[in-house]
Amino acid sequence: MQQIPHYINGTRVSDAERFGPVFNPATGEQEKEVVLASPSRVDEAVAAAEAALPGWRSASLAKRAAVFYKVRQLLTERKSELAAILTSEHGKVLSDAEGEISRGLENIEFATGLGHMLKGERSEQVSTGVDVHSIRQPVGVVACITPFNFPAMVPLWMIGSAIACGNTVLLKPSEKDPSSSVFIAELFSEAGLPDGVLNVVHGDREAVETILDHPGVKAVSFVGSTPIAKTIYSRAAANGKRVQALGGAKNHMVVLPDADLDMAADAAISAAYGSAGERCMAISVIVAVGEIADDLVEAVRSRMTGLTIGPGTDPSSEMGPLITAEHRDRVASYVTNAPAEGATVVVDGTQQQFDSNGFFLGVSLVDHVKPGMKVYDDEIFGPVLSVVRVGSYVDAVRLVNENQYGNGVAIFTRDGGAARQFEVEAEAGMVGVNVPIPVPVGTYSFGGWKDSLFGDTHMYGPDSIRFYTRGKVVTTRWPDPSTSKIDLGFPQVD
Ligand code: NAD
Repeated sequence: MQQIPHYINGTRVSDAERFGPVFNPATGEQEKEVVLASPSRVDEAVAAAEAALPGWRSASLAKRAAVFYKVRQLLTERKSELAAILTSEHGKVLSDAEGEISRGLENIEFATGLGHMLKGERSEQVSTGVDVHSIRQPVGVVACITPFNFPAMVPLWMIGSAIACGNTVLLKPSEKDPSSSVFIAELFSEAGLPDGVLNVVHGDREAVETILDHPGVKAVSFVGSTPIAKTIYSRAAANGKRVQALGGAKNHMVVLPDADLDMAADAAISAAYGSAGERCMAISVIVAVGEIADDLVEAVRSRMTGLTIGPGTDPSSEMGPLITAEHRDRVASYVTNAPAEGATVVVDGTQQQFDSNGFFLGVSLVDHVKPGMKVYDDEIFGPVLSVVRVGSYVDAVRLVNENQYGNGVAIFTRDGGAARQFEVEAEAGMVGVNVPIPVPVGTYSFGGWKDSLFGDTHMYGPDSIRFYTRGKVVTTRWPDPSTSKIDLGFPQVD
């Protein structure tokens, strides 16, 4: 069986006491096993990152940028190879895997501009003969802990800016689909990144807790589910680290009565069932405002029958399997239990049969959903789309804002004034106007509100520069020594 190694100090490390299974979700077979780090293996990786830090933080910005230009070239050339790895371990269809890599490449492109991002400010003559300037310096060893659903893009969200800012990194990817992180780390090495700057350590809770308690780790970037994000945030912060911990989501798509229903239905289908609904920005709730609800539900339902579900390697597949059998069964249970909660199952994907042992599940549509039902309250993270019917725009905004999550939200309308009002009023970190999945481009930052993010800074883009650096302000004067005198008063500007 193929083993997936750690990558520490530029070397593959395969010996371990514990291993985790890695499945091909399209066949249901365990094809690989991943080494799981013990605390001493984590210590070894942190030590490698600490040893590499002085050299990397003093590398010129030009040398750092050159690495990112080369990584961009290598990732572009080898995109289909990486996409095949993603599909074999995650299950998403190849075109979607390539899309994920393209979005991750935006963060590498952003990192090539590190010379602009790391500029400080300077003020001449803030007081007589006194100048001030600011600089930003790396925080040190940064830990990046990532989820299963974007095994290439989310690591790239983090490591591009972290490394560009002069930090060294310990990346702990999801143990469910860990190969792409090793692939990416080896590309960085090929691009000229010195050994020890980017280390990959696989593991589960034991490895993560060692990272959170390790005095050598100065900052933690996390993306995953809300309960784990909360724990990561409090434990790492209690240990004096800076933390950004992005959590789960329940993303609403508000459809106003004036919206183009066909366009809204196309968008809902794409955003709900793409990547089998295993996207933190997937639309999981349609909020149908007013009398359009019946027509909208019918427009969505009629489009669902045409979706092709199959292995991600088959070019005709539009949706692949879910990540594990347990997750598939959990997702299905929300549909099965929905009628008892008072909802109406319009399309029951749990009844679809597949000629395969893969973790496939059909797409479901559940109408007349309300807060208080589990199908509404929980993040399902699968191909289940709910419809909540409300009477007015005001009711729609109240529903969105009362939800515990605040990652993304979208409004579909032809009324610019209503869209603008929604943009102001919606309590979420990312808003789409006629855009169902408003993931910001790499020059902006990504992050939610409420239980979708614990911490202050969002991920990638300008916020990442603030997160991965410490600010320093330098005050300078060059007085004539003959004017020097003792003055015990607090220095005042004059
Ligand atoms: P997860 O929380 O189970 O795992 C995320 C990471 O935490 C993994 O590396 C895992 O090994 C580690 N982990 C798991 N259990 C742990 C524990 N008890 N203690 C310490 N570490 C632990 O998440 P997942 O299932 O891999 O990913 C799906 C979740 O991620 C969804 O909730 C989704 O919404 C969320 N997500 C959020 C965003 C965002 O930007 N907000 C993006 C992608 C995914």
